[in-house]
Amino acid sequence: MKFQPDNNGYYGQFGGAFIPELLYPNVKELEDNYIQIIESEEFQTEYKDLLKHYVGRPSPLYLAKRLSEKYGATIYLKREDLNHTGAHKVNNTIGQILIAKHLGKTKILAETGAGQHGVATATVCALMGLECVVFMGEIDIQRQAPNVARMKMLGAKVVPATSGSKTLKDATNEAIRYWIQHPDTYYLIGSVVGPHPYPDMVARLQAVISEEMKIQLKEQTGKENPDTIIACVGGGSNAAGAFYHYLEDEEVELIAVEAAGLGVNSGESAATSQLGEVGVIHGSKTILMQDEYGQIVEPYSISAGLDYPGVGPLHAYLHETKRATFMNATDNEALNAAYELTKIEGIIPALESAHALAVLPKMDLQKDQVIVVNLSGRGDKDLETYIKHLS
Ligand SMILES: *Cc1c(COP(=O)(O)O)cnc(C)c1O
Repeated sequence: MKFQPDNNGYYGQFGGAFIPELLYPNVKELEDNYIQIIESEEFQTEYKDLLKHYVGRPSPLYLAKRLSEKYGATIYLKREDLNHTGAHKVNNTIGQILIAKHLGKTKILAETGAGQHGVATATVCALMGLECVVFMGEIDIQRQAPNVARMKMLGAKVVPATSGSKTLKDATNEAIRYWIQHPDTYYLIGSVVGPHPYPDMVARLQAVISEEMKIQLKEQTGKENPDTIIACVGGGSNAAGAFYHYLEDEEVELIAVEAAGLGVNSGESAATSQLGEVGVIHGSKTILMQDEYGQIVEPYSISAGLDYPGVGPLHAYLHETKRATFMNATDNEALNAAYELTKIEGIIPALESAHALAVLPKMDLQKDQVIVVNLSGRGDKDLETYIKHLS
């Protein structure tokens, strides 16, 4: 299995666990147990039951007829936007909260940038009656007031990160520091990033997306493989989930779409695969945007969920091996794609998901080409941005 990590969590040269000595016991405990827990009947029963009755899965696979007509292909949308809390992130937090419970943890720690992962974590902590602490950059707290309010209503404690640029990477640093001081807490990471085993664990939990796709495509087209899957990439979890069961089927084309912000070479971008170099971020070796001194370059995208200076190690490997094609979309291209989907299909996508849609006009498509676009989330959270740019 070429695209599964080895025993040390490496995909080729990427991955591993670069962590302070003091965290070793925590990470080792998780590493020793996660596969066994995930594969146990008890976990699977509870996880599948919550995904069905709480999250609302399976999410529909919708044939977007008017979009298909416009682009001259057969385009399906995998509707992760219809999940409880409005995006794919909850698939992961439901899974990890069950793993935390199996490990006997009662306190959950998370960090969040835009607040989407913080809300998904606070949600499952409320559901399970567990204590929840969320680190968030002070600037992000000001920018993302509605999500901060949601987390508080859900009972989470939101702690401002006041160091550095007061954004996601600082929240991550402070969360890790807190974890060292409180080793009894469970650190719930929101994407396929972080030290091994997090990237593989989160990919396995998001893999339900492609597991359902296979069944739904078989029902609707007679074949379980599409020709092409398109997904946006911030850290890479929705793409990892949409690609997962097709990784080894190399005839299925995988397209990962990054945020180009104001343009890949504008200095205001988050297109990591185009601009990044090998380095260590968040405990794993991957590609990240850094300056000549190895300092992380602050990324930029209109979409908060894609505004991350790295990608997970699986994606670094998919890029290096060319198993996936990396494309990108600017702020404006994503906005236009979002308006278009809204007008012709009556679906307001999240700005992140709009980046995946925005590459359709750049592709050379065939009428019978079956494409699945992973619609990672809904656009309610982005309405203010959409209205501001509508004129
Ligand atoms: C967080 C988020 C993303 C980006 O995260 P990935 O881990 O790359 O999937 C994409 N879409 C939505 C709707 C999000 O909330």
